[in-house]
Amino acid sequence: MDCPNNHGKMELKKIAKEVTFRGRQVKYRPEHFVCRSCGLVADDWKLAASNQKALSDAYRRTVGLLSGEEIVEGRKKLGWNQEQLAKAASVGIASVKRWEGGLIQTKSMDTILRRVLTGKETRKDSYTGNRSWVSLPRIKLVLGEFGKALGRKILRSSDKGVLYAGKYLFYADMIAFRELGQSMTGASYAAMPHGPQLDNYRDLVDSIQVADEREAEPLTHQEKRIIRRIAKAFPNDQSIYRAVHEEEVFTDKKPGEHILYTEADRLCQI
Ligand SMILES: [Zn+2]
Repeated sequence: MDCPNNHGKMELKKIAKEVTFRGRQVKYRPEHFVCRSCGLVADDWKLAASNQKALSDAYRRTVGLLSGEEIVEGRKKLGWNQEQLAKAASVGIASVKRWEGGLIQTKSMDTILRRVLTGKETRKDSYTGNRSWVSLPRIKLVLGEFGKALGRKILRSSDKGVLYAGKYLFYADMIAFRELGQSMTGASYAAMPHGPQLDNYRDLVDSIQVADEREAEPLTHQEKRIIRRIAKAFPNDQSIYRAVHEEEVFTDKKPGEHILYTEADRLCQI
């Protein structure tokens, strides 16, 4: 880049900086073009982008989140491409690209990324329906899809809203496991007095409300078809309430006992 004041070629220089970013003091070293004669400092669009990324990485290191660089390194160590990491973390590939490129991940996504990249989380079983953990963004995505199919919002913060949303999720996860070999959300279910319900649903509901469904692995066509089928079979809260209470996987359980995904074959209302 040439100096706009006609001093010829400018020099590339790293300059130590300390800025307040998201309420934290962050130290980093952005790179700029500097004129040797008049001291003018300038960025081209490429430098501006890499400086923004450097700030994001410095911030993430400061607050204990994986930096974009660390995510790339961890992924490469496993020999994975971005798609493989997205799959393992149950997120969309666009999220992986954004995090590696400088977008700051939430604390809960950071925890999941760490588990995936260190290979520490390998629990895939009949409690999670062959997923490694419960994905709150995906729960929100599935509930949103039910909302579209039913033409009404089913995630409400009232007790009753919680009660019914959980039953739609129960069928979506169980039927997906039965027909596709994997649950949609990784949630575990227990037999509660008012029917099958997500483990700790009451504690989860606030987190689900604020979860970002754009972080979730997008729903496949097959998953969307299952959701539409369930919505068609149970158009209102009363019908799904009645159906789950007739399922033997529910009626043969003691209160609080888990309903396993391996029992999905015994479901008979859908
Ligand atoms: Zn100059």
